[in-house]
Amino acid sequence: MKKTAVPLDHPRRVSLEIRERVIEGHEKHIVAMAGLLAHGRGEAFDYLIGEKTTDQARESARAAVAALLAANHPVISVNGNSCALAAKELTVLSEVLGAPLEINLFYYTREREDAISRALKKAGAKRILGTHDRPSSTIPELSSNRRKVDSEGIAVADVVLVPLEDGDRTEALRALGKLVVAIDLNPLSRTARHASITVVDNIVRIVPLMIEYAQEMKDISKEELKSIASSFDNRTNLSNCVHMMMSHLESEAHDWEAARSVAQEGGITR
Ligand code: ATP
Ligand code: MG
Repeated sequence: MKKTAVPLDHPRRVSLEIRERVIEGHEKHIVAMAGLLAHGRGEAFDYLIGEKTTDQARESARAAVAALLAANHPVISVNGNSCALAAKELTVLSEVLGAPLEINLFYYTREREDAISRALKKAGAKRILGTHDRPSSTIPELSSNRRKVDSEGIAVADVVLVPLEDGDRTEALRALGKLVVAIDLNPLSRTARHASITVVDNIVRIVPLMIEYAQEMKDISKEELKSIASSFDNRTNLSNCVHMMMSHLESEAHDWEAARSVAQEGGITR
């Protein structure tokens, strides 16, 4: 499909450009068909937070970075959507955190694995785990090829960053006793609910910020990092995120009510 240039003054330009990247990822076999739908769900929730990084997301991203820096074996899981949207940024984050990238696909095909691997290498990744030629272990409780994880990656990780992950896998990782950090725009998803720390924001906006935080926090003692991470309460976080969405909707509703009053005062009925 030919890429359409989004006009500079288009009110939804940023969102449309992000969408184009996912479509392009699909054309390059990086993003599965279902990934296009998952992106649409993310867009809807992004609307509800006003398409900007909230203070709540910043706070959870700090706790997330603290947990990843304090880890003995941190790993960043990469799927099609996260690769299409943030290959470069995840590669930089992986370097700053000393956390390897592991390809982990819900809809596995060898073609998709190769396409993601190529994109990550192009983005500068030197070490990629989870490929077909790597030693693998299995996660109990998950079915078929979704249970496969890299023996030197997620299998032995104590902290795993899962951007845009499916709920089943998040639950399985938690059942194995791992600390799971999720990036997910939907605070109601199973991933968001089951993760230890959920960053409710768009991966495109939050990963660059997480890189900054990692650079700022990398000299903090492990003890202090652990205390920042463990004092984070994900239930409070998710509750705050939902309240934020509700107040965003309420302010939209008030705007409409105010517009209606103005129109009525002016004698305009429609
Ligand atoms: P779950 O399985 O956790 O209940 P789900 O089945 O609703 O979630 P999945 O397709 O399994 O959805 O996971 C994709 C998740 O990624 C969704 O919750 C979606 O809101 C989120 N998402 C999509 N695009 C983005 C994005 N750009 N940034 C952050 N999150 C996103
Ligand atoms: Mg799901």
